[in-house]
Amino acid sequence: MDGSKTILVVEDNPSNMFLLRALLTASGYEMLEAETAESGIALARQALPDLILMDVSLPEMDGLDATRVLKSDPGTCRIPVIAVTAHAMPEDRRRALAAGCAEHITKPIDTRALPGIIERAITEAGTTACRA
Ligand code: MN
Repeated sequence: MDGSKTILVVEDNPSNMFLLRALLTASGYEMLEAETAESGIALARQALPDLILMDVSLPEMDGLDATRVLKSDPGTCRIPVIAVTAHAMPEDRRRALAAGCAEHITKPIDTRALPGIIERAITEAGTTACRA
């Protein structure tokens, strides 16, 4: 694992942020945090993280709209976004992928599976189409 990778977590729930902070730092990632879609977009543009974990349910703008904004921006469109949601229905997954998310995972987060999902998304980031 490349410990220099930076992951931006956009999450408004403190408990989920705490869990992800513990998991990601233990896995050797640098972590950036935002609690709203708007601040997450701003931080993504400024810091250009290697990957974004995006909560779908956020106050004001939601995570899928934020993903659409990032995917329509040439500066951020190649950053893989993993949607994190409490909704496990096939339609929710379809909506997340249609918004430009590389992957869709459901809460409660599978802490054993997540590092592999992140690594795969980062590895495949260079091959994903940029819509912007
Ligand atoms: Mn939320």
